[in-house]
Amino acid sequence: MTAVDTATRDVVAELRRRGIGDLDDSTLTRALYSTDASLYRVVPQVVVRPRSVDEVLATIEACRTTGTPLTSRGAGTSIAGNAVGTGVVLDFSRHLNRVHEIDAEARTATVDPGTVHAVLQKAAMARGLRFGPDPSTHTRCTVGGMIGNNACGSRALAYGRTSDNVVRLDAVTMAGERLSLGGEQAASSTLDQLKSIVADELAVIRTEFGTFGRQVSGYSLEHLLPENGFDVATFMAGTEGTLATLTSATVRLVEDPSHRLMLVLGYGSMAEAADDVPAILEFSPTACEGLDSRIVNVVRDHGGTVPELPRGQGWLFVEISGADAGEIADTVRKAAAAASAVDSRIVTDPREQAVLWRIREEGAGLATRTLPRKALSGWEDAAVPPERLGTYLREQDVLLAEYGLDGVPYGHFGDGCVHIRIDFPLDDPGGHDLFRGFLVEAATLVSSLGGSLSGEHGDGRARSELLPLMYSDTAIGLFGKVKSVFDPDDLLNPGVLVRPSALDADLRGPESMHARLGLRLLHDEGDFGKAVHRCTGVGKCLADNSSSHGVMCPSFQATRNEKDSTRGRARVLQEMVDGRLVTGGWRSPEVHEALDLCLSCKGCTSDCPTGTDMATYKSEVLHQAYKGRLRPRSHYLLGQLPRWARLTSPFALLANLALRTPGVRSVIRWAAGVDQRRSLPMFARGSFRRWAGKRPVAPRDDRPPVLIWVDSFTDYFTTAGGKAALSVLESAGYRVEVLGRRACCGLTWITTGQLDHARELIAETVATLHPYVAAGTPIVGLEPSCLAVLRSDAVELTDDPRAVEVAGGVFTLAELLQRTPGWAAPDLTGTHVVVQPHCHQASVMGFDADMALLESTGATIQRLSGCCGLAGNFGVEKGHHEVSVAVAELQLLPALRNARADTIVLADGFSCRTQLKDLADHSALHLAQLLDH
Ligand SMILES: Cc1cc2nc3c(=O)[nH]c(=O)nc-3n(C[C@H](O)[C@H](O)[C@H](O)COP(=O)(O)OP(=O)(O)OC[C@H]3O[C@@H](n4cnc5c(N)ncnc54)[C@H](O)[C@@H]3O)c2cc1C
Repeated sequence: MTAVDTATRDVVAELRRRGIGDLDDSTLTRALYSTDASLYRVVPQVVVRPRSVDEVLATIEACRTTGTPLTSRGAGTSIAGNAVGTGVVLDFSRHLNRVHEIDAEARTATVDPGTVHAVLQKAAMARGLRFGPDPSTHTRCTVGGMIGNNACGSRALAYGRTSDNVVRLDAVTMAGERLSLGGEQAASSTLDQLKSIVADELAVIRTEFGTFGRQVSGYSLEHLLPENGFDVATFMAGTEGTLATLTSATVRLVEDPSHRLMLVLGYGSMAEAADDVPAILEFSPTACEGLDSRIVNVVRDHGGTVPELPRGQGWLFVEISGADAGEIADTVRKAAAAASAVDSRIVTDPREQAVLWRIREEGAGLATRTLPRKALSGWEDAAVPPERLGTYLREQDVLLAEYGLDGVPYGHFGDGCVHIRIDFPLDDPGGHDLFRGFLVEAATLVSSLGGSLSGEHGDGRARSELLPLMYSDTAIGLFGKVKSVFDPDDLLNPGVLVRPSALDADLRGPESMHARLGLRLLHDEGDFGKAVHRCTGVGKCLADNSSSHGVMCPSFQATRNEKDSTRGRARVLQEMVDGRLVTGGWRSPEVHEALDLCLSCKGCTSDCPTGTDMATYKSEVLHQAYKGRLRPRSHYLLGQLPRWARLTSPFALLANLALRTPGVRSVIRWAAGVDQRRSLPMFARGSFRRWAGKRPVAPRDDRPPVLIWVDSFTDYFTTAGGKAALSVLESAGYRVEVLGRRACCGLTWITTGQLDHARELIAETVATLHPYVAAGTPIVGLEPSCLAVLRSDAVELTDDPRAVEVAGGVFTLAELLQRTPGWAAPDLTGTHVVVQPHCHQASVMGFDADMALLESTGATIQRLSGCCGLAGNFGVEKGHHEVSVAVAELQLLPALRNARADTIVLADGFSCRTQLKDLADHSALHLAQLLDH
């Protein structure tokens, strides 16, 4: 047993002895928490998810007794390595996450530290109030983490930093002393000592601290000055869990302005945009954000919708808000006139505003993909006084060029805070030295401009070592003295702020992994390691996506377990690539446990700003792990369903009889690895292709041709959608051909990782369909998940260039009808429709064409987001039923329960319709059926 193993055993025993219930020292969980959203990798010994303040106290005691380091954690979205640690990681987000009180009169909220910002915001909004600071991670970051880092965000211009909004804090020191800060405080030797340290160095604190709004680096000692009321609660913001552990927070709320307008200003360069900031600040904007055009290009290149933007290589997004609509419109016009922009646009439509703000919010994730080499964090949030911002950006560009680096700037320009992701070649020889060299010079530059190394993310492991470049020796000495008062044994988040770790220690290992793969991983040069390292931990997969029409990540929404999030899975796969902690390669049990509840919904493919694609990684893992080995039963039956369906369909009557016989049904379910609570699909009497083949052929037909490509589900199980589609297309003026040959996309083989056979199938299908595409005949697919294979997976499986052309020649029914000249949707005014887009469609093809078509019918449309929970074989497989139902309960089932009795439910996916039938006994329709009545 190693020394670490012994230490782990001791602390785990101590924690158990003190009654801590939710603790986990498994390899899987340690892998999940081995990094935050930074470049650093520090594997903890054990993770504790406290269920009460008493458990927090007990954990602190256990750590003190055993000398174990303790790192508090919220959502783990810190970018500088602020939320990783070697000993115990205390995750507040799991249980201590409630809003306890909103006091509308006092305008305060009292919350647990693990409360997600968006949850607090929802509660405050219900009372017409808001929590001011809003970091881009507001959908998942926690109030405790915001206080830890002194988070700011786009609207700090109007509402201040987190420190400006802290009213009271309950905190515990490492000695176990409970402090009530900002409220009534009992006598405390800790606070007395702190006061005397401050009293000894008033001059230094008065000259070096609080010099401008975004001086976030180091401890904010200015709040302890006598003239500032020795405000320890405010001082605690930004201490990154190094002084005390927070157990409760009371924060200030403000009124939310009723009107807001957005002004977008275009400039020739980001530095020119920065030069204009002081002029814009004259108009007291709520937000003034910079955005490089290359970030917007990533969205466009990946098929995202971007509202019209003014000309320019960089923009300022300016928000003016207030109670009087006329007044703010006037201010916006004046600001536009005063700006030196090359072009401008006032965005009044709230939907367009929301899209633009979302692109800005996702800047950090998107920016990783802007350059030929992956762009990384490390030097990503320095701030200078706004009037020096243009100079800073120009000098930073010179420095980047000297180091042969590139970076894409954006961020809170109104506050002088610049975000940037830089293409540090960390995996190249000398890469770490170059990283260090650049950071030292960049820190020197910022300090020379009177700036702060961090303007909102905190110092973490990336910048703590650099603090002496910004502060005098006396100030650095003061940090040490303050730390000694609260945490003399250096157990709280060691390596951060005081006695710092080297900025290039604990950087994650090389990302590459060389293996012969089943998939081509075109976007990652065929490198599985590179692919799984797309996830940089931004954590968008932890957010509730119900209001954004997103899909990612249904399993996390259902279980709230980090292991079941896209990020958690990516972490475990990264550890598999690393090989030091997760050692079993493709067959590692940790990897399979993490992937087990992945629905392969493809939600992350479109929703994750870093382009993480877990469905693809899961297929590859299953392919590699079961190569030449016995597979789970479900892979043979469900994973090869089209084959069995084809063989059985001619005997549909007999097969259905068997499927209706209880004993036989149970045996089939068992053999197929299907949960006994699931239905088995009944075969259609006669396949769709046979039915279509019997249609009379018109002797001469000049109408434009269209081909219906028949998927196995439409062919053998639910032919009604196919028949309706044929009728709709004919009435739209097409000469409809139904593909007579079998042309399977191999979807079920892909999701179960049987990639060699999937490749054979897709090669055949591409060869079959290509002549139609070459002849200009549009091809319509009716099952969204099969169509999505042709649109995206096919090119991952085969290098046949025809696959690319086929991907461009296949359409959903809505896509084709929307571009059919003269076609008009039927008038369905008065009809109520709830529509569940198939997750693969939402993620790969998008649902815009369907929505436009449905809206043109005049029907009342309620569009659901997320996944239905079945997702092909996932929901029917044994062991997945509960999660499948829980996912359905997120949106689909409640929507159905709340719907009027005459509501039509639309679901083009065979899975979604099966889920509705199984869980709600509801027969949903395919879009074709709705249009064909
Ligand atoms: C894509 C992206 C965009 C971002 N945008 C912004 C932005 O616009 N503005 C901004 O300010 N930040 C931003 N951040 C940084 C980060 O999201 C914020 O600082 C956020 O507030 C951190 O919250 P968290 O819950 O993830 O905290 P964590 O990362 O878990 O923790 C943050 C710090 O707080 C400490 N901590 C957590 N809980 C406690 C506790 N109970 N007691 C004591 N210490 C505790 C931790 O030890 C750590 O040092 C961004 C990050 C990403 C990945």
